[in-house]
Amino acid sequence: MIVSILSGKGGVGKTTIAVSLAKVMAKQQETVVLADLDVEEPNAGIFLKKQLRETIEGIVYRPQWREDLCMYCGKCQKYCNFNAIAALPNYVIVFPELCHSCYACSDLCPTSALPMLPYRIGSISLFRVEGGFVFLEGRLDVGQEIASTMVKQTRDRAIQEAEREGIRWLVFDAPPGAACASREAMIKSSAVILVAEPTPFGLHDMKLAYRLVRENEKPCALVINKDSPGYNEIDEFAHSEKIPIIARIPYDPVLAQAYSKGDLSTSAFPELVSAIRNIETWLADLSVNSKGGQK
Ligand code: SF4
Ligand code: SF4
Repeated sequence: MIVSILSGKGGVGKTTIAVSLAKVMAKQQETVVLADLDVEEPNAGIFLKKQLRETIEGIVYRPQWREDLCMYCGKCQKYCNFNAIAALPNYVIVFPELCHSCYACSDLCPTSALPMLPYRIGSISLFRVEGGFVFLEGRLDVGQEIASTMVKQTRDRAIQEAEREGIRWLVFDAPPGAACASREAMIKSSAVILVAEPTPFGLHDMKLAYRLVRENEKPCALVINKDSPGYNEIDEFAHSEKIPIIARIPYDPVLAQAYSKGDLSTSAFPELVSAIRNIETWLADLSVNSKGGQK
């Protein structure tokens, strides 16, 4: 079962939940793969004692202009929907950072003057973690613009690893937001845990993330982090959309300090432990119900 931990904006506790859930599952003898898909700013690894097993490159294919073959027809610029090619009267410029590797220019160039060549965009590192689980970290290289491809490659590598090792549970720490990268992270998930903080910004961005989840028809539940009295709009929205609120973690400066030091010893924070238990119960119910539905 793949569970994505998603939030509308950064800094609401998504990584805290993802890492804690994986740690608690591993403690309960559940084998688990945790993947940090927040490739522009991966930080789940900070909270894990881990040993690197291997690093592979994230590769995409992008066109490389062959001056000797070009007849300067200018068609490649018209074919590109992403403004990644400028065809000048006597020169063609490819902007690799804007290229989405769609192959249109390469396939349609009349003289095959734009062969697609491999191009590094980042890396995927695979670790063995103390406590018995597998951790993958996707990391986009500095200067690269398109995170979704790196997310997709890390996600698929995590799924392959789980299949290879016979691991049943995968926990994805998704990129924050509601753009392509977040969609790539959660699109293969069986369930989504939305994490939000009870503030006007938190609600606004959570609504966007929820819309993404709903449009992709994923079962989802809400965890309210940094909870404090006085702001009920997030509850009202959840009730109106029938999103179950499965956990509330009160604002705790000690937890925030521990997080800032890279120390997430889940057992030291009873509210966090109880939130993780609730998530596990919700996931177990979902798993049973979906099996029932398949009969
Ligand atoms: S489509 Fe091919 S031949 Fe035409 S300008 Fe582009 S690279 Fe040159
Ligand atoms: S591969 Fe697609 S996105 Fe990239 S430059 Fe060619 S047409 Fe544009």
